[in-house]
Amino acid sequence: MKNGIFGIDLGTTYSCIAYVDEFGKAVTIRNADGEMTTPSVVYFESTEKQIVGTEAKTSMVMEPENTVAFIKREMGSDFRREIHGVSYSPQEISAKILKKVVGDANAALREQGILKQDEEIKKAVITCPAYFGMAEKDATKNAGIIAGLEVLDIINEPTAAAINYGVINADQKKNVLVYDLGGGTFDVTIISIGGNSINVVCTGGDPKLGGKDWDNQLKDYLVERWKKEMDTDEDISEDLETLSALMESAEKAKKTLSTKDTAKIIVNHEGERMKVEITREMYDNMTGRLLERTIELTNSCLKEAEKKGISLAQIDEILLVGGSSRMPQVKAMVEKTYGKPTNLFDPDEAVAKGAALYAQDINQYQIIIEALAEKTGKSTEQVEKEAKEGMDLHQAAKRAGVSLGLMPTGGKLDIKNVSSRTYGIVTIIDERTNLDAVSNFVFQNDTLPCTEVKMFDTIADGRGVQFPLYESLSDQRLLENYKDLATEMTVFQMEFARVLPKGTPIEVKMTLNNSGLITIEAEEQADHTKANFTFQIKNSLDENEMKNAMLRSSASKVE
Ligand code: AMP
Repeated sequence: MKNGIFGIDLGTTYSCIAYVDEFGKAVTIRNADGEMTTPSVVYFESTEKQIVGTEAKTSMVMEPENTVAFIKREMGSDFRREIHGVSYSPQEISAKILKKVVGDANAALREQGILKQDEEIKKAVITCPAYFGMAEKDATKNAGIIAGLEVLDIINEPTAAAINYGVINADQKKNVLVYDLGGGTFDVTIISIGGNSINVVCTGGDPKLGGKDWDNQLKDYLVERWKKEMDTDEDISEDLETLSALMESAEKAKKTLSTKDTAKIIVNHEGERMKVEITREMYDNMTGRLLERTIELTNSCLKEAEKKGISLAQIDEILLVGGSSRMPQVKAMVEKTYGKPTNLFDPDEAVAKGAALYAQDINQYQIIIEALAEKTGKSTEQVEKEAKEGMDLHQAAKRAGVSLGLMPTGGKLDIKNVSSRTYGIVTIIDERTNLDAVSNFVFQNDTLPCTEVKMFDTIADGRGVQFPLYESLSDQRLLENYKDLATEMTVFQMEFARVLPKGTPIEVKMTLNNSGLITIEAEEQADHTKANFTFQIKNSLDENEMKNAMLRSSASKVE
């Protein structure tokens, strides 16, 4: 298979990988255990050998100190985990998961004869939650690079789910609410789909709300029940082995309760055991607050959509994705609240399949550009420029005799995203008191690409100025108290050719492109010196850390 690309859903609890077959259909690839999804759990047997997946999940019980789960929740932060004397970043740990799913997928495709024995796929599109900011997206991309992949793009999970859905139902024009309740995250997104276009209207959610929290509720219940039944004050979850076993039983019982009315759990701790029967009603009561929280977040997203002209009445359908949407109470609650039909749409695989379709689309776009350049004698840059300026690539390719073969959508998916965060720079708003605030340029849910221009005056004579860039979820034009409410991403420096007097106006232009990347252009209005800034993400791994992680990755074996 020439030019293959994987679509990878790098999930908090489970990961999934897909590719597009020769008929243009997205297909999930089973792992070495024959499963469609692989637990995102890494067991460090040694620094040279790691085990990822179901077997690693069992190690959570036996060797919790050498096992890592839920690493996605740490992406973009400066979290480090020391194992066998090595300090691992979230990127490096996530790379192990990617290496496992890609390794298994390549082996499966070889076995099926789709890849030759000496072939492997190295290109991938990886998904991330819609609310991921720049640091988290960058961390996801670096995880791919450490795993030895060529990461073509990072795409939002709900957009990927919608691509899978939209491509399958290409002739329908619809407004869809994607309710994505995964293992560790909740994402809600409103998307307009139709033909080849996918417009994200707005997005919201909670990065720390997912199936794991449902498991936690049940675990807490079991801990309390143990205290009562055994007449003790002991918190059995303080014992790491018991805790891992409790979490595993809680998840198993939760899944049972998705299809049955009751689930039995046996709790073992230090030679004693307790048998518990959980009914669906008990379970719904203990987790009801979590479900309500997803509805509150969905309501906020709907309010945001209304501002952009899409009301609840205009939502045609609600797509339920993410493994936790399998819980029947989710469907019941969403349908009761919104009075709309829900569609439990391929909850475990939709995201990976959508990513694969998107990957295929960008890959085909590249192939068509290259073939067209070769046929016409133009450079690929020139053809790309003409395509961007409105040339119908497919018509041009046909005219030039480029065979499109099975490339019906190549480069045709038109995806419009929104910004997941708000971005601004720090400015003094009261010179007397030196009070400063973040002057926001781009807001959460602004449609991308977007540009905003603002004028500022320098507050002292000087040879330059600094612009600290902050990321937040604020909807305020001027955000005071920003130290608590926003995160500093970087500081842009602007140098002047000479000392400019206080009060010199500076025009600052901020642009967020389709992939969410920021550019800032500044021009002082005295001598018209200009400055452009490249954005460096804080918490990102520096060159040395990346190099070390890549060296360790290629020297270690992941099974
Ligand atoms: P995802 O991150 O989308 O793969 O979702 C994984 C989450 O879905 C985990 O918390 C699983 O426990 C949960 N899950 C998977 N299957 C079921 C099920 N049948 N009922 C309830 N939760 C499930």
